[in-house]
Amino acid sequence: MDISTLTIATARKDLDAKKYSALDLTDAYLDTIREKNPEIHAYLEVWEDSARAEAKHADGMIARGEIHPLTGIPLAIKDNILIEGRIASAASKILEQYRASYDATVTKKLKSQGAVFLGRTNMDEFAMGSSTENSAFGPSKNPIDTSRVPGGSSGGSSAAVAAHMALAALGSDTGGSIRQPASFTGLVGLKPTYGAVSRYGLMAMGSSLDQIGPLTRSVEDTKILFDAIKGNDPYDGTTLPDSPNMSKVRLLTNDMSAITPKRIGVPRSFLAEGTNPDILARFEEALAKLKKAGYEIIDIDLPNVPYSLAVYYIIMPAEVSTNLERFDGIRYGLSVPAEAIRDVYTKTRGAGFGAEARRRILLGAFVLSSGYADAYYRKARAVRSLIRQDFEKAFQSVDAIVTPTNPSPAFTFGSKSDPISMYVEDIFSTPANLAGVPAISVPMGTVVRDGTDLPVGLQIIAPHRREDILFTIGTDIERA
Ligand code: GLN
Repeated sequence: MDISTLTIATARKDLDAKKYSALDLTDAYLDTIREKNPEIHAYLEVWEDSARAEAKHADGMIARGEIHPLTGIPLAIKDNILIEGRIASAASKILEQYRASYDATVTKKLKSQGAVFLGRTNMDEFAMGSSTENSAFGPSKNPIDTSRVPGGSSGGSSAAVAAHMALAALGSDTGGSIRQPASFTGLVGLKPTYGAVSRYGLMAMGSSLDQIGPLTRSVEDTKILFDAIKGNDPYDGTTLPDSPNMSKVRLLTNDMSAITPKRIGVPRSFLAEGTNPDILARFEEALAKLKKAGYEIIDIDLPNVPYSLAVYYIIMPAEVSTNLERFDGIRYGLSVPAEAIRDVYTKTRGAGFGAEARRRILLGAFVLSSGYADAYYRKARAVRSLIRQDFEKAFQSVDAIVTPTNPSPAFTFGSKSDPISMYVEDIFSTPANLAGVPAISVPMGTVVRDGTDLPVGLQIIAPHRREDILFTIGTDIERA
């Protein structure tokens, strides 16, 4: 078996045709992990024994004809998604020994299909970052060029799939953390519509922005994994109803009956500034391919979207500071003993959180403080509604919007040590999280840095609940 060419879809056919067993398949990935993980550091922990047991269980299901799309498929799981009984650390010292007491809804769904969990993947601490350099346990490397980052925060997941240490992976995306690592490693990554996938059992970063989603080798695989994890969940009140025929949904999309997307919008004035010229060249080539595939390319204006980065870096830290309050040395994880309870809090948090987590907690507490909430937090929320309206308006005349996924390709370790230069990475990815709309990154060729070809991604954004449009256009790009 040659795992370097496998996708979920092709492995499914092979498994069903009994070309090899799920156990053979899992063993092939475990072999690759043993060989490559010491250098790439995609996984924080590998579950050899339970993965093999799950693969045997999957073989039993296949033998009985109980076959689901993911039965026997070996997956990597980001370390902020709970699996009962397993450590889930979010790459933080504060949760280094924390064991999940229940399964996330996505975990339950994957288990019921008989998927195989290979291990938990490295990430920026609590998903804050774009490179895995904020992991408390050391960064992951980009398998394409190990002097470069694999993206972040789901960089362990992208590195695992890109290095054939998993067939596909789950990540989470609050402001780009699935799409950017996909772009940096030549993969497909989807940030679903807000509420399409349950956040129950996902460690909260920015609750109004977070979504779990797939990182895979093809658009088809992304669809398979998305279909497996999506759906309404009574444990997450923000999940959307399963019926797509709700009148509310109709209002948000121009025409639910339009099956084939035809018109693609390009927010040109937003793209020009700061994007690497060779990435813009790949982007123009992608537009030419779409045109050839029959799409109409239309210039659009999203007047408030350029404020997304500023708005994101106010709303996200506000939610981070609130969500991370629960790590107090009493309820979860690390606890540094002290005489007074107050000192337990401060000593535990001081010892447990890394620099970036602390920076965002401080920033969030500041923008929410009574003296500044009007000037920052409330203003950011007002602009967020304008950003949402920009998309609603644009989607009255186009079926999708495209941009490069990022302004630059994978960068070298340490080259963005100034936090602002790192935050600028998120310029094209944060708008979709703020508006709640789905967005995908698909490979659109490579650019050369220091003699190495580095992949870059095309981002496609669609109206609420129209992941189908992303899959259609994404497949057309793959084929072109
Ligand atoms: N890079 C962004 C940040 O640092 C996005 C993180 C994410 O999507 N989890 O906040």
